[in-house]
Amino acid sequence: MLLSNVFSFAKVFRGSIVFWSVPSGRYSLGNKERKIMKEEMTSDTIELKAALLVEGINATKEALAGVGTKYKEQNHGLFGWDMEEHADCKLPDDFLLPDGTVVQFRLNSSSPFSVLINKEILRLYHGDNHICDVQWIKRPEFYNHKIDDNKKMVQIGQVGGEDCLFFCYQNYCSHFSSGQECLFCNLVSTSKTSAVLKKKDTEMIGEVSSLAWEEGIVNHILLTGGCFAHESEVSTVEKIIASIKKHVGKDRIPGTILPSPAKGDDIKRYYNTGIQAIGYSMEIWDEALYQAICPGKAKTTSHTQFLQSIESAVHIFGEGNVYGVFVLGLEPKDTFLDGVETLTNMGVNIVPFIWSPNPGSRLAGHRAPSSKWYAEVIREAANIVTAGEVPSGTENHCYRCDGNNLLHDALREKGLE
Ligand code: SF4
Repeated sequence: MLLSNVFSFAKVFRGSIVFWSVPSGRYSLGNKERKIMKEEMTSDTIELKAALLVEGINATKEALAGVGTKYKEQNHGLFGWDMEEHADCKLPDDFLLPDGTVVQFRLNSSSPFSVLINKEILRLYHGDNHICDVQWIKRPEFYNHKIDDNKKMVQIGQVGGEDCLFFCYQNYCSHFSSGQECLFCNLVSTSKTSAVLKKKDTEMIGEVSSLAWEEGIVNHILLTGGCFAHESEVSTVEKIIASIKKHVGKDRIPGTILPSPAKGDDIKRYYNTGIQAIGYSMEIWDEALYQAICPGKAKTTSHTQFLQSIESAVHIFGEGNVYGVFVLGLEPKDTFLDGVETLTNMGVNIVPFIWSPNPGSRLAGHRAPSSKWYAEVIREAANIVTAGEVPSGTENHCYRCDGNNLLHDALREKGLE
């Protein structure tokens, strides 16, 4: 398209300016122009997804019809990501862009993004401009089942994105009682409002896994807890994975365990449970920032201890089966990318969650970096990861698993997933 045929308009998104090209001339557009406009507006899916995570999103009552019955609703197993409270209102957990990108739904009634429904098609708008059509994700059948009279299966395990079965075996973190919690974390306020059970019986976890796998939607599991005494945590995980293996009928379980930082002999014990991958929530790469943002955690696991443990874990689990997990947006680009490079050279994959300030966390009310910043950083990270040739590990965690991470999407953009 000739430059003279378009004009660009700028939308200011909390400090970032996004230019979308729209055909010039009359505002009344024909079908062809509408098609061109839609393609141009959705051409940068990474930046669009980052904007949806940073700005949040709203949806009309009509668009939300069927959420909680036909479509998968939020059931917060650990953290809540909405930018405001929403008691008594069922919201989608996540949704799909036209190319299959999964985006977490983060409610913000002041967001410029909204979802409306027109002739049964969900349409994403930025202000008055139609960006693209979207889809809520189908509600898993097992969400309707009960374990006993008092407990529903969805209170025990939930599906992240389209295919990751998530269990939080304990919603507890000792750092809150000492006022040393990570500044971005809202575990305590989320657990007060969530109907998800705080502690789950291992046999029940196995039963939920069995039904979820039979349904044919689950490809991996993600297992995590808050933070508790390591001996009790390792033995809890041993029992849980044994129960999953028994109910699902597999010797090794595709998926990831994300415990309190696993050290020494515990790493081998986690491997011996039969889980295929392990993650380390380093949160922030820059050491001084890590100590400031995660004061309690930094006292129990230093940056150096993380690296020593990760090195051991790669020897035991194998390259590509160890993850460094980060909260992206709270440290400069260069330090984060240093971390990506170092870990990639060690044979580690990266999961960077896109930070926006959650209610209930100590950083509530702050602002996240712009969507443009996130898109730039993640594409540079994808270049580093690609050059490092670490096995992708997609049998354990993939772009369909969660909607709050952009790295899988950036690798998919390069044709690597
Ligand atoms: S270690 Fe930090 S992020 Fe994890 S549960 Fe505790 S406060 Fe939250």
